[in-house]
Amino acid sequence: MRYASLTEKGRVRDNNEDSCFSDGRVFVVADGMGGHRAGEVASSTAVEVFLHFERDNRGLDPQDRIREGILSANLELYKQARSDPRLEGMGTTFTCALLEEEVCLGHVGDSRAYRWRGGELGLLTRDHSLVERMVREGYITRLEARNHPQRNIILRALGVSDELEVDLDSYAALPGDRLLLCSDGLTGSLEDEEINHIVTEVTETEACCRHLVDAANDRGGFDNITVVLIDFEGRVARETSRPKGKKKKRRWWRGRS
Ligand code: CA
Repeated sequence: MRYASLTEKGRVRDNNEDSCFSDGRVFVVADGMGGHRAGEVASSTAVEVFLHFERDNRGLDPQDRIREGILSANLELYKQARSDPRLEGMGTTFTCALLEEEVCLGHVGDSRAYRWRGGELGLLTRDHSLVERMVREGYITRLEARNHPQRNIILRALGVSDELEVDLDSYAALPGDRLLLCSDGLTGSLEDEEINHIVTEVTETEACCRHLVDAANDRGGFDNITVVLIDFEGRVARETSRPKGKKKKRRWWRGRS
């Protein structure tokens, strides 16, 4: 297994409010929000609290550990935001993967996890954003959502309330899979097809992260950009990953409705 990560502030913002972590077993992307550096505090604190909880609670089932780790980060941010006026209104997204027997995912907000398998990219998370809800309820199209003036409004984040619902998922990784965690600085700039093109073409892990971030910067770099990429062993060449004559692999979506 190989992994790499890259986070940059982009070309417009003065600071980077994204945080990420990867150690070969735990992987996190968090995208903070809030005035005057509060976003940086939010995302970095959430990652720290989560890692601390995860380390101290290995006895818990992975999904419980993820959920409770995110909840404890949420409570810490909520407490800090209420006690320090400079941090009022801070919050963060949080998307993480734990590699145990399976790949276990936890998710809140509009950062994303994608699985690349056999040349196809499947979204594993659902954005907790206003535009995603409007698309699902049929008010706007996915195309309209991309340029919607309210596309940055998120409906779920850590630090906003003492209660929080966490999305959980898990799947068995296959040799050759790639798992991408990213902030909306990537997905707001690049279409899924463009991300898939880069993830398919650039086989080296670190170089792939570099290409993804560069591509988002080339589109203007309007937001902080963070990518974490995990390559599972046995990656096969694109040409041989889908043998001729065999049925095309079904695009994978998570089962939640
Ligand atoms: Ca962002």
